[in-house]
Amino acid sequence: MRKVNQGAIMQVSASSSERLWNRARSVLPGGVSSNIKMEERPHPMFFIHAEGSRLFDCDGNAYIDYSCGYGSVILGHGHPSVVAALQGAAARGFNYGGQHEGEVILAEKLVSLVPCIEMVRYNSTGSEAVAAAIRLARAYTGRPKFIRFSGHYHGWLDEQLVSAHFPVDEKATPRLESAGQCSSSADNVLVAPWNDASALECLLEAHSREVAAVLMEPIMCNGGVIMPVEGYLERARELCTRHGVLLIFDEVITGFRVHLGGAQALLGVTPDLAVFGKAMANGFPISCVGGRREIMNQIAAGRVFHAGTFNGNPLGVATALATVEELSRDNGAAYQLLTAIGRRLMQGIREAAAAKGVPVLVQGPGPVFYTWFTQVESIWNYEISVRISRAPYSQFAAALLANGVRVIPGGRWYVTCSHTEEDVDRTCEAVERALEVVRVTGIGPVLEVVSGGGS
Ligand code: PLP
Repeated sequence: MRKVNQGAIMQVSASSSERLWNRARSVLPGGVSSNIKMEERPHPMFFIHAEGSRLFDCDGNAYIDYSCGYGSVILGHGHPSVVAALQGAAARGFNYGGQHEGEVILAEKLVSLVPCIEMVRYNSTGSEAVAAAIRLARAYTGRPKFIRFSGHYHGWLDEQLVSAHFPVDEKATPRLESAGQCSSSADNVLVAPWNDASALECLLEAHSREVAAVLMEPIMCNGGVIMPVEGYLERARELCTRHGVLLIFDEVITGFRVHLGGAQALLGVTPDLAVFGKAMANGFPISCVGGRREIMNQIAAGRVFHAGTFNGNPLGVATALATVEELSRDNGAAYQLLTAIGRRLMQGIREAAAAKGVPVLVQGPGPVFYTWFTQVESIWNYEISVRISRAPYSQFAAALLANGVRVIPGGRWYVTCSHTEEDVDRTCEAVERALEVVRVTGIGPVLEVVSGGGS
């Protein structure tokens, strides 16, 4: 194991992390608290501290971190303003079981920043807020079904975990992903390939009277950080309007990461409802669902039930307010920085791979991107993405870890405002070393279905 600390690189052991994982396995299934963590090789890591762009494990190793709390950390770990806001709020009480002004201030801020948001409700996790969006859409349209896309992840709840990780087959059959999922979970789900306007058009024409919503990640981050092809989101917007179907953007990853107003502001297409989480509070758990007033006001009218013990708690609100304030400084400077750092890193990975003769594809807007080892030159849908073997990447990720760089096992990389050019240069050196283990043998067969999305 390499230690990256104050410029020094030295060999240390990883035994405490491994010992903790072995101990954890007798009391935590898989030794972890979320399934994606089971995929880390050689074993799930245990950390004691995180600061700026660095993670510190229980063996004393430091890593340049590109997992970034599964994309939730945007300013950097332990950002001083967010920590101060959290400490200030904590000193005034964790949960009043009543309203407080911060909820209103944050809602006003969200209304001013996010194009689709006229009203908003808070939750704690992305999964919950997506469930709320689906319920609002069903209540508003009086229709039962929603259309989703293969390769998009919308949380682990029963109806949301249908066909997230399976490519669409010819009959577009929705598939359950977990034992114990209620067998009727797929009954009201229609699945389509993303980035294919004709497929969406056909599905809507065949089912529009039953369809309440089209639910998508506006940038398909989970299935490979794939951008929408030109005109796709506009066409989806137009089709939804024509059929009286609500367009829901799941911005749990893109929100506050690609633009202060989400991917909808970056890409210029406004949905009816949108969901935010992750980066909203720099790693503290808070999420929200927001959108058009008449849809959201179904909650005020008592038609739609929405609740949560921790919704709008002072800690989540204070951390979100501090995060949004930092991200709003200097007219979008944070996003220029995130994009520049992300793109420098993307280019560095491409150059390191070219120098070693390893075929690589690095795609994404910059603040989040994806790395595949493949001869394929561009990937625009999940059906191609899922055919590329993740095995070389998995070895590469383990080799990066041994060289002081931590990434999510699947292929997605996140950066924060705390990453520096020096971090990127060191990372590229680690990439060069880690590439020694990568062996690519073409596009590969249809893969093991990976739980490549979600956290
Ligand atoms: N939506 C998207 C796009 C996500 O990536 C995730 C989680 O990774 C979720 C929803 C679920 O959010 P959470 O894990 O906070 O429940």
